[in-house]
Amino acid sequence: MGLFSELKGITVWLDISTYCNAACPQCHRTDPNGLGKMDWLPLKKWDLKEFVNAFPAGSMNRIGKFWLCGSWGDPLMSKDLLEICKHIIDHSNANIHINTNGGLRSPDWWEKLGNTCGRRLQIYFDIDGINNEMHAKYRRNVVLDTVLENMEAISNTPADVRAFIILFKHNENHMHDMINLAKLYGAQICHVIKSDRFLVNNKFKFIDEEGNKEDLEEMTRKDLDRYIENSEWVDRAEEFVQSRQTKDKDQMKDLDNVYIR
Ligand code: SF4
Repeated sequence: MGLFSELKGITVWLDISTYCNAACPQCHRTDPNGLGKMDWLPLKKWDLKEFVNAFPAGSMNRIGKFWLCGSWGDPLMSKDLLEICKHIIDHSNANIHINTNGGLRSPDWWEKLGNTCGRRLQIYFDIDGINNEMHAKYRRNVVLDTVLENMEAISNTPADVRAFIILFKHNENHMHDMINLAKLYGAQICHVIKSDRFLVNNKFKFIDEEGNKEDLEEMTRKDLDRYIENSEWVDRAEEFVQSRQTKDKDQMKDLDNVYIR
């Protein structure tokens, strides 16, 4: 382990759940053909006992941060998340970062989480619209009003509350409104990114829960690039893919055949 890691401690990236209450069309876990879970992804979630088994008291001295990330599911789907966080706080010096769609649990629960973890918790809520309809165009099954209530509740605690905003064509004209809304409900910092899942085409086609054809479109406004944290590497990734694959209609048809049945 290098000196840097020694000083900062190890970062543990952990998906404690592959369950999710949402069905975001471009998520790794979501099947674009109907928005169910991908067949190959096993359904797992850790409870307190499983977490303590993996990280017993006395084993976390060299861990600087637990990043409970929502790559394959939302950490809030673990019924014992509060108790897991308490275990980390009580038996280590590690900080906790959580990414969540924020649509689960009650404001009381969120306040309890913030008070249990205090400043050692950094939490990112997904905010993708200024109303329920705009938000749920990507964050399917998640009610924005609930997210905002939960965010407001935990913002009354010492926890570091942040918003994570993904820009598409359908919400890019409301970027400043989304930032203002998130700040109004307690976000101290808003991280704005653009979707990195348009590597081949600027349209992402999918079949929704009811069997209807829908699509998401990549953001178009270059003037917003200066607000976007991942702009450069998304552009580089797009160039890389496009240098290998043509972006023509025939390819769209090929993709249709692969993903949309
Ligand atoms: S909330 Fe996160 S884990 Fe759940 S479907 Fe959306 S992107 Fe995937």
